[in-house]
Order: sequence, then C-alpha cells, then structure tokens
Amino acid sequence: MSSFLHTKYQALEAYTPGEQPRDKQYIKLNTNESPYPPSQAVLTALGEEDIRDLRLYSDPEGKALKLALARLYGMGADQVFLSNGSDDILNFAFMAFGQDGAVFPDLTYSFYPVFADLHGVPYSTVPLHEDFTVDVPGLSGTGKLTVLANPNAPTGIALPLSEVEKIIASNPDHVVVIDEAYVDFGADSAAALVDRYPNLLVVMTYSKSRSMAGARLGFALGQPELIADLEKLKFSTNPYNVNRLTLKLGIAAVASDDYFRANAQRIMATRETTTNALRQMGFSIPDSQANFLFITHPQVDGAKLYQACKDKGVLIRHFSTPALAPYNRVTIGSEEEMAAFLSVVEEILAEEGV
Ligand code: PMP
Repeated sequence: MSSFLHTKYQALEAYTPGEQPRDKQYIKLNTNESPYPPSQAVLTALGEEDIRDLRLYSDPEGKALKLALARLYGMGADQVFLSNGSDDILNFAFMAFGQDGAVFPDLTYSFYPVFADLHGVPYSTVPLHEDFTVDVPGLSGTGKLTVLANPNAPTGIALPLSEVEKIIASNPDHVVVIDEAYVDFGADSAAALVDRYPNLLVVMTYSKSRSMAGARLGFALGQPELIADLEKLKFSTNPYNVNRLTLKLGIAAVASDDYFRANAQRIMATRETTTNALRQMGFSIPDSQANFLFITHPQVDGAKLYQACKDKGVLIRHFSTPALAPYNRVTIGSEEEMAAFLSVVEEILAEEGV
C-alpha cells in the first residue's frame, strides 16, 4: 500500500477471485464457468470490420442489445441495464441504494461485504438455517438494501419464487436485489415480478449459462426509475462500460437462447449424476439448482481434498473462512470432466483410508 491511498480504503479487504493458474493444464471446476463454448452465432458474430471499428467508442446506451434483451424478457428497453459483468451492477447497487445499510445472508457471495465496505455501507448478515436454506422472515422487512443470491452461492440452493416475493413485498421502501447469476440451472426468475415491484432489481449475467465469462457482460432488469438510477452512476463513472465486441456478441447470444438452455439442461443432468456418485462415496451435498455443488465429507478435511485434487490436476474452490473450511465448491463441467473428477476423488478417498 502506498502512502497516497485514501484513508477510507486502507483497511478495505478486496475480493479474492478463484485462481486461474497457468502452471499446467487443469480440469477447471473452480469458477463456475461453462464447459461448453458460446453458441455458433456468437462464434461467427465478429469479423475484421468489427476489429477495425474498435477505433470507435461503443454505444454508451447499448441500445441494440437492450432491445434484444427487453424482447427476450418481455419488457421495455428502459427496464434493462447493461454492465461489464454483473459484479459491476452489484457494485452500483451498493453505491446507489445502500444509504440505510444493507442485509444479506451470512453465507452467500463473498463479494457483497466487499462492496458494502467499499461504499461505507453498514451491513448485517442473517444466518442461514442449519440446512443452508435462506431465512425468509430474517430477510423480510429489513428497512435496508436487501441482497439475495438465488440460487445462493456457494450452497446452490434455490428459494421458490413465492418466498422470494415475500422478501421483495415486505420491503417496499428499500431495494431488494435478486442476484440470479445461476438462475438458468433450475430456479425460477424474479424477472416475472419486475412489473409489480418498483423496489426489485434482478441481476443476471452472461458468464455462466451463456458461456461468456470472458466477454464480461451482465444485465439488470427493473422498473425504469430504478434502471435510470443505475444509468446515472454508470454515466458518472464509465459511460462506455460495455465494449463494442461484447455488445455485438451479446446480441448474437440472445438470438441463440435455445442453445444455451439446452446446455443448461445438459449441465443439470451431469449435476444429477455427479451428486449421486459423490453421495454414494459418503459426501453430504445440498440439492443444487446451480452449476456447482457444495460438498463435504465427514472423514476428509476440506482443505486437504482441495489440495489433493489440485495435485492430481483438478481445481475446485476451497474457502478458508472457518465456517466454510470443511466444504468445497465444485463446478459442474462436461460429462468427461466430471468422470475424471470422480475418479480423482475416489483415489483420494482410498489414499485417506476411507
Ligand atoms: N453473483 C454471483 C452469486 C456470482 O457467483 C458471480 C460470479 N463470481 C457474480 C455475481 C458475478 O459474475 P460476473 O461478474 O461474471 O457476471
């Protein structure tokens, strides 16, 4: 740290993204990326002309992509906000709507407390139930910005839409953010509720089901006033927040909705077989509606399993916080990748004498 950093940031603890090691080829099951490539339409969307046009700024309003997404979700273009990955939207949400503080579950996306600290938003957390489900009354009527990942991360558990709606309806004077990064893997989207609740902001991403994590594209759906608030912050920080290539790829991806939905189905089927196989080996796993599993084994230390997998060429995600230390989060990869992962785990269990 230099002596120049503003005192308000000196104690800030930044978010730690999942590792992206380059030392060797790993089976990468640690950052919830899709094992499948983007759609054919996306693969062929860019030509030399697009690279030439990089001399020009992108459309700061992203009109064409907004229209495409608006049509897909059955709303107006003024109900869509575009961003450089959905983390950007979460950042803006804490910046814009955190005046009275923020509330989120104690076990959830570990970026939320970082955004809160970044913007000086005081926050409190609501413990999950023992089975890792969300405490709906605890998150209701908070009188604060309320943030819920649905499905939740790293548990993968989804809350039914009727329960999500209770949280939204109970907090009419404050924004409720539903972070739907993983919604396409089996949960119900709160997008259907946007027209009824002016305090609802639904946040989605192209990074998971749409196989475009590297393109950095996120979007939010909400009523026009709420979207205008986000636009105000965007135009006060980085008006060209989505680059030309990504805008174009994003439109191509919307046109191939069926392709990514089929991939999501395939990932859900692989999730089913992987869950069953791991449970047979003695792992406890909540039923996941996401593209990852939250696994623990009574006889194998979480950090040890992570390291042994890494040594054998499979990367999974381990969190070192004490509450999460017995667990690992495992992204659902292709059928072949999961078969390789399962045999690595079998080997490790044998080595541990389990
Ligand atoms: N929300 C949740 C719950 C996530 O796990 C992630 C991925 N780390 C994000 C949002 C952000 O994803 P992106 O910025 O790639 O859209």
